[in-house]
Amino acid sequence: MNHRRVLITGGAGFIGSHLTEELLSRDLAVTVIDNLSTGNWSNLDHLGHNKRLRVIVASAADPKLLEKEVPRHDFVYHLASAVGVKLIIDHPVHTVQNIVETTEVVTSMCSKYRKPVLLTSTSEVYGKSEDIPFREDADIVMGATSKRRWAYACAKALDEFLVLAHYYETNLPVFIVRLFNTVGPRQTGRYGMVLPSLVGQALNGAPMTVYGTGRQSRCFCSVHDVVNALARFLECPGAAGKVLNIGTNEEITIHGLAQKIKQLTGSRSEIQLIPYDQAYGPGFDDMMRRVPDLTRAKELLGWTPKRSLDDIIIGIASALAPADDGILAGVLAR
Ligand code: UDP
Repeated sequence: MNHRRVLITGGAGFIGSHLTEELLSRDLAVTVIDNLSTGNWSNLDHLGHNKRLRVIVASAADPKLLEKEVPRHDFVYHLASAVGVKLIIDHPVHTVQNIVETTEVVTSMCSKYRKPVLLTSTSEVYGKSEDIPFREDADIVMGATSKRRWAYACAKALDEFLVLAHYYETNLPVFIVRLFNTVGPRQTGRYGMVLPSLVGQALNGAPMTVYGTGRQSRCFCSVHDVVNALARFLECPGAAGKVLNIGTNEEITIHGLAQKIKQLTGSRSEIQLIPYDQAYGPGFDDMMRRVPDLTRAKELLGWTPKRSLDDIIIGIASALAPADDGILAGVLAR
């Protein structure tokens, strides 16, 4: 496939900005559309000099803008989406509307102009399934609609259905990626993500907040590995019409993660267990484990994650800590 001009919705966000950088490094021309709701202008600051980058500050749900931009590009990455459990709990109406409306506008325009489109979905879609590791075609187990958290999973599942419907009805080349927990520099703890929150607390000597018992586990994949996988879709037409898990299967409990961060940063912070009700409000549902089956990603993209959790944590901590930070000096000198 010869995709020279790529459009990224949500390209100023945490993952979007790393994807922008990755695609520019592959000599592609990139247009970013981002309304800077959870994204941030500063995420792209270091790329501002690149003449192959255009940034449009606007909503990706604007049909007039998409009507103009989609036909000018060869491939569309649709990343724009409300993200983060905290945002979803605090603004449930915005979350559902934003996710579904934006995907509707983006996919209809891609369908009209026959442009390949990749949707970033989420491992939340597996819901409360305990069938570990999660395989893409396995059944999903959704929580009650009264628990706000599941609105995100359902909205993203609906996105997947819509995108796949275009594939079945008109053979539009569509790609669906279920991202597992993705971490790295520029991720903010503002929307509740655990790793930047714990690293920030460890560096500031503040109590490290572990929710629930801390025995729930996750697998944290480097954003650098994730965007490498996303870029490979440009050359893998065989992945069209399929859902692919992208993440790592190196599993760690959240309490174990806090201990690892504390040790790697040399922090004296105490680890504090906080009940879910106190952290998220009443009636919160968490999932205990979330591990991807990565067979399909390996077969179709030839991709496996490369970076270890220790290296990821050290990378995030050094991006957050001042250059002359005494705590980190010993660790970073290795
Ligand atoms: N969590 C935590 N402390 C925090 C933020 C999150 O213990 O400061 C927990 C959260 O309850 C969940 C896990 O860490 O069990 C991962 O949370 P995150 O929001 O990063 O991602 P999720 O996998 O839930 O989408």
